[in-house]
Amino acid sequence: MHTRDYQALDRAHYLHPFTDFKSLGEEGSRIIERAEGVYIHDSDGNRILDGMAGLWCVNLGYGREELVAAATEQMHQLPYYNSFFKTAHPPVVRLAEQLVKLAPAHINRVFFTGSGSEANDTALRMVRRYWALKGRPDKQWVISRENAYHGSTVAGVSLGGMAPMHAQGGPLVPKIAHVRQPYWFKEGRLGEGRSQEGSPQDPDAFGRDCAAAIEAKILALGEDQVAAFIAEPVQGAGGAIIPPESYWPAVKEVLEKYEILLVVDEVICGFGRLGEWFGSVHYDLKPDLMPIAKGLSSGYLPIGGVLVGDRVAETLIEEGGEFFHGFTYSGHPVCAAVALKNLELLQSEGVVARVRDDLGPYLAGRWKALEAHPLVGEARSLGLIGALELVDPASGERFDASRGIGTLCRDLCFAGGLVMRSVGDTMIISPPLVITRDEIDELIEKARGALDDTLARLTDPILHKQEESLS
Ligand SMILES: *Cc1c(COP(=O)(O)O)cnc(C)c1O
Repeated sequence: MHTRDYQALDRAHYLHPFTDFKSLGEEGSRIIERAEGVYIHDSDGNRILDGMAGLWCVNLGYGREELVAAATEQMHQLPYYNSFFKTAHPPVVRLAEQLVKLAPAHINRVFFTGSGSEANDTALRMVRRYWALKGRPDKQWVISRENAYHGSTVAGVSLGGMAPMHAQGGPLVPKIAHVRQPYWFKEGRLGEGRSQEGSPQDPDAFGRDCAAAIEAKILALGEDQVAAFIAEPVQGAGGAIIPPESYWPAVKEVLEKYEILLVVDEVICGFGRLGEWFGSVHYDLKPDLMPIAKGLSSGYLPIGGVLVGDRVAETLIEEGGEFFHGFTYSGHPVCAAVALKNLELLQSEGVVARVRDDLGPYLAGRWKALEAHPLVGEARSLGLIGALELVDPASGERFDASRGIGTLCRDLCFAGGLVMRSVGDTMIISPPLVITRDEIDELIEKARGALDDTLARLTDPILHKQEESLS
């Protein structure tokens, strides 16, 4: 079969996730056939540096035989068994032990799911159940942030703060409220922080304002009505949004003041992305619940879960009776065996410490240099997650969103051999954690090339015409 054969079948039968079905059908998909290390290969023979680690998940890179062997062995041994009715199996028990060893000290239990969305559904049920068991059934509201991403099941969409998702398929789960996000570039530097009288706010004052918005929301909802606050340590899908340093300490203070549980969605930040095993460790968050998925298995098989802190776990165990919740594939033995091997390799190869001590700082220096490019208003990174904010070189302001400059830049990246994702006009990267310094150099050069190509199309009247056809 050739590329066009796959594309025809794809167009005819496959409804892709997060896709405008009709326009994809017209353009045709890129068919990815194989991958090794940090590179993917398409059916036309192109080799492309995967700056997104698949979808933020292939932390160990592609083609790891150890993970393949772990899956194969477990398939032979026990391909499936559930743990609903007082049963368990070796891989799931060992994985639970290993996760608890890596997690902060107050976390000693884990509940398994098949995905990050299911993990967040589970967290929602747990926090409401916790407060009911504590004799405070009025504590039901969950506060989240605008532009947060917590998955795509009904609870995931409701917890998330993506306006276009909220607009489809509602009504959503009740008693979930959203507050402003700590997005300095968009809402501080270019937003209301600047338009105030006098000098613009600094990032830390902005971060404290965003934390104060949580307190205001708590008081508006009723201070004894709020069950939990949920957030990603660094927002991923929203645009690799790294909060100002002042944000998390101020948030923690507010939550303690009103006895509100903290759910830290570690689906992207967990397993080394920020240079620690969990984003919560980087920011010293001590969460009650940590939904996990993606990098848990480096994406080789679907598995997620919720790491449950002692205060919630003890209550569910001691006072809860049966918890009517779980999935056919909770703790699936083959997924668990692969996740366990993945954690072993991340440890034995020192991957997480290398992100913190070497690759993260190295990327930060090279990435920051892209700020000199006329199209880049801000370049930020932490560990191995980063973003470029594209701006109009003439004004330093955002482009009109309808021009689709981010999409254009993304397509030019692809054409130049790099996967970089666009969220509006924010370009983001989240490469495999096993990337080398040389490969980071290649990533930077390809990103710079795509920025140059984007700029050329904006300023050259002939190329400009092609802007539309490309995007
Ligand atoms: C991807 C993601 C999810 C959802 O995970 P799925 O496995 O796609 O259901 C939840 N939270 C965050 C932060 C994510 O990035």
